[in-house]
Amino acid sequence: MSQLSNMKTVREILSRYGFTFSKKLGQNFIVNPSVCPRIAEEGGAGPDTGVLEIGPGIGVLTWELAARAKKVVAIELDQRLLPVLDETLSEFSNVTVLHADVLKLQLEELLRREFPEMEVVVCANLPYYITSPILMRLLEARLPVKAITVMVQKEAAVRICAAPGERNAGALSAAVRYYAQPRVLFSVSRGSFLPAPEVDSAVIRLDIRPEPAVSPPDEALFFRVIRAGFSQRRKTLANSLSSGLAMEKGRIGAALEQARISSGARAEELTLEDFCRLAEAIFAMKEAEKV
Ligand code: SAM
Repeated sequence: MSQLSNMKTVREILSRYGFTFSKKLGQNFIVNPSVCPRIAEEGGAGPDTGVLEIGPGIGVLTWELAARAKKVVAIELDQRLLPVLDETLSEFSNVTVLHADVLKLQLEELLRREFPEMEVVVCANLPYYITSPILMRLLEARLPVKAITVMVQKEAAVRICAAPGERNAGALSAAVRYYAQPRVLFSVSRGSFLPAPEVDSAVIRLDIRPEPAVSPPDEALFFRVIRAGFSQRRKTLANSLSSGLAMEKGRIGAALEQARISSGARAEELTLEDFCRLAEAIFAMKEAEKV
């Protein structure tokens, strides 16, 4: 285990570099020594694995990943952290730090270039402001990645990992479940970070499915149906779908019937198979109208 990730060392390094935290970049660094080894272990970093890390900060998680993985590529947006990372990771020859905004990178090309013929996992203590965009970007691109293990705010962990039927199920959990099998690994209290955020966190792992969970005839329409279904939680499913998809209620009723879904059902009760049948029914209606 590295000696990096404790309050005293992190403070000492940051003060030596005159570093001040950027709230805008979601900078809350881990200062609990037991957290990073666990993320690295449970995230699947091993001697044959390549690891993509997003936001290494001063390198506390990067250190644990580099000690276990074949290769680590860490993407950091804050230029001020590059000399710090040079120092904290100096003992490793298997780490590449890239100065870039992860949301603007061509990740597919990067993975192909940096990890040829290697199994790849993603591990990160994510900056909270990009949790959903980065997860959806990683999932939608169908990147050749085995698993994504990330620290997120606890409330986000619950929303991302919610199963159909649970109160927190929503468009995000449905989309995640289409591409991956999600689970919460463990909770991390706010006191494990410097500065301490206002909420607790949790580490989640998404195991990427070799193929999406269902096969809708039109993926874009499938996701529109899901978003429309969850768009107005206080309305009935039929009403939300009708306004969200700009279709008359009678036609929505017919599609629900065709898909064997009760018009009184709530969106959070629907499984991916239900949404898929519903999207199929709506797709068939739209196709029939074309002729
Ligand atoms: N991994 C470190 C740790 O656990 O102590 C730092 C985690 S901190 C929550 C998030 C890190 O992501 C910060 O270092 C921040 O500068 C970086 N970051 C924020 N936005 C980013 C972006 N768009 N692309 C790459 N890195 C980003």
